[in-house]
Amino acid sequence: MVEKQHKVWFSKALKKWHLVENNREMPWKGIKDPYKIWLSEIILQQTRVEQGLAYYNRFIDTYPDVHSLAKAPDNQVFKLWEGLGYYSRCRNLIKAAKTISIEHDGLFPASKEGLLALSGIGNYTAAAIGSFAFGLPLAVVDGNVLRVLSRVFGISTPVDTPAGRKALEQLAEQLLDKKEPALYNQAIMDLGATVCKPRQPLCGACPFQHKCLAFETGKIDQLPVKSKKIKQRERFFYYLILESKGKQLVRQRKGKDIWQDLFEFILKETDEPVDEKELKSWSFWNLGAKKEKTTLLSVSAELVHQLTHQKIRCRIVHLRCASSLKIEGYQWMDISSIQQLAFPRLITRYQTTI
Ligand code: SF4
Repeated sequence: MVEKQHKVWFSKALKKWHLVENNREMPWKGIKDPYKIWLSEIILQQTRVEQGLAYYNRFIDTYPDVHSLAKAPDNQVFKLWEGLGYYSRCRNLIKAAKTISIEHDGLFPASKEGLLALSGIGNYTAAAIGSFAFGLPLAVVDGNVLRVLSRVFGISTPVDTPAGRKALEQLAEQLLDKKEPALYNQAIMDLGATVCKPRQPLCGACPFQHKCLAFETGKIDQLPVKSKKIKQRERFFYYLILESKGKQLVRQRKGKDIWQDLFEFILKETDEPVDEKELKSWSFWNLGAKKEKTTLLSVSAELVHQLTHQKIRCRIVHLRCASSLKIEGYQWMDISSIQQLAFPRLITRYQTTI
């Protein structure tokens, strides 16, 4: 339990810093529109603000309210999302928009439970929408908040364990200024993002410098503590762009793997790297079709795509063939229509280079 005097100095210092020093401007800050707040929070999860801002503006221009987003064809929304990664966020965004539009008449639920019942909304997003749009006394706990609290209060329980997370969530709830939750939440998130940064925090500009245990004990670099090292899985993806009469073969990815619902060319995944000679041989692709007369247009250099838990090593082979052979699961599409589809960033990066 946080002692009352902690609570008072913490929220007083934070509020003063926010009103006097914090000049971080964002289009969704200080507004009460739950649609815009929700959109910005979903886009900014695992995305840098500089990158997310352009996406946020494009989404608001294209879908100014939740009904327009709910009515949009899924592919169009995925296309707008293209490049942001973590496509499950986009799937959940579409699902939640439909629920709000159809079942709630376009109105966001104004309670924590109601918000949590929507797809893709967890404790953090519910607290952000609940406090910013509806003034609910809910403390946001994101990476920025975990870092500030761990450092100021010198907490060394790992933040990625259930016990550590719970302790910090309880602390955040206790420190929250329940009279002004929106202001408090915005202030602590901004402080973490702009002052108490993961590396080289600006302690000289921090309102907590004289109370911060990490600063006092020289443990800034050690806090917050994380117990797990992220395990990396290496995968080898080989794509074949097969082209015939102005069309290419594509399919939509299904199943539980990465990039669900995005489009791709003919994919062969292997356990080991494959050399260029093999990539150029028709038999490597194992297409269940007899050898076609093909013209090799290009073979890309290796493209490396880093995801949170996976490293994708990829090469892309581009062939032209005379006939439009049938390959199960793939369909021929005009190249101009293919440009309207949403592809993984790995592929669009390659497409912009050719
Ligand atoms: S004094 Fe430094 S480490 Fe402590 S909260 Fe402020 S910026 Fe973070």
